[in-house]
Amino acid sequence: MDPAPVPIVDFHTHIGDVCRGCYREQIVSDTDGQVKSHLLERSSYNPHLIRLVSSGILPKSLLISSAQNAASLANGKNLIASMDSAGIEKSLILPIAPFVQTQQVLEASKEAPDRLIPLISVNFDGASPDDVKNQIEDYCNRFPFRGIKFHPNIQRIDPSSHVARTLYETAAQKGLFIIVHGGITPILFDDSRKLAVGKKLLPILEAHPNTTFVVAHAGCYFNPNNKVLENMAGLKNVYAETSGVGPDTIFSALSLLGPERVIFGSDWPYGTQTQSLSLLRSAIYRFCLIKNDDVNRVFQLVQSDNANRLLKCQ
Ligand SMILES: [Zn+2]
Repeated sequence: MDPAPVPIVDFHTHIGDVCRGCYREQIVSDTDGQVKSHLLERSSYNPHLIRLVSSGILPKSLLISSAQNAASLANGKNLIASMDSAGIEKSLILPIAPFVQTQQVLEASKEAPDRLIPLISVNFDGASPDDVKNQIEDYCNRFPFRGIKFHPNIQRIDPSSHVARTLYETAAQKGLFIIVHGGITPILFDDSRKLAVGKKLLPILEAHPNTTFVVAHAGCYFNPNNKVLENMAGLKNVYAETSGVGPDTIFSALSLLGPERVIFGSDWPYGTQTQSLSLLRSAIYRFCLIKNDDVNRVFQLVQSDNANRLLKCQ
C-alpha cells in the first residue's frame, strides 16, 4: 500500500559549487539539466564500494568529476524542477562559506520563497570568536533564518576550536539549529577530511545540550558506523539526517534514535531527490515491518513533521 501523501521537506540541498576549494580547476556553472544518480547512490551506498572509494583504491578524480558535474547543475531553477518531479514541497539550501556564501543562497531562494529555505554559513576566514557571533547576529537582523550549516571538513575548522564553540553557543542563544556534516569527505586530500568523524563530533554534541544539532548523513558519510548512532541516541538535542547513506544506516538511525529524531535529506545535487526518497522509504518499510510501527506515522515524521518543527512551521 502506498503511504498517504505528505508535504515533503528536503532538509539538505545546495546551490553553487560548495566543494570549490577541494580542487583547483574551476567549473562552468549554471547549466540547464537534470542531476543523474551516481554510481554509489545507484548501488544503495554499498559498503564495499564505499570502502574502495574512501580508502583511495578508486581514483579520487572519479569522485571529483562527478561532484563538479553535479555542481554545474546546482541552481534554483534546476532544484525546483527536481522538487516538482520528486514531489517535494520545500528544500533547505545550505551554503558553505567562503565557497558559497549566505547571500548567494538567500538570492537563490527568491526564485520560490515559499519553497526554498536559505540557511546561514559563517565565513571563518580570519574570523575571531567575536566575528562569528557578529556574523550570525547580522544575518538574523536581515532575514528570519532558522538554522546554520557547518561543514568542519570543507571549512577546515576543528569542531572543538574556540570559533566553533562560539558558533554552537550563538546558535543556542538565537534559537537556530545547526546542521553539521557527519563523517569523512573523500574528495579532500588532507587531514581535514576527518574533522567530522564521531570521535571529533560526539564530545561536541554532548557538551552543548542547549544547541539543536542535525547531523548530516546520520554521521556516517563514507564511514558507515553504528557506534556513532548508538552514541547519538542518548543525546536528546541531536537529530540524524538521511542523505548520502544507504538503507541499512537509515534503518539503524530509525531504530536507535526513533523516527521522531530522523529527518529526510538528499544532498542534491550530490544525491538525487528521487533516489534518496526511495532509499529512505525502503528503510522505513523495513523498520515498520520489524518494529510493528505505522508506515504513515513514520513517513509523516521523517519526511515532514520533524523538519517543520525545527523550522518552527508547526
Ligand atoms: Zn551537503
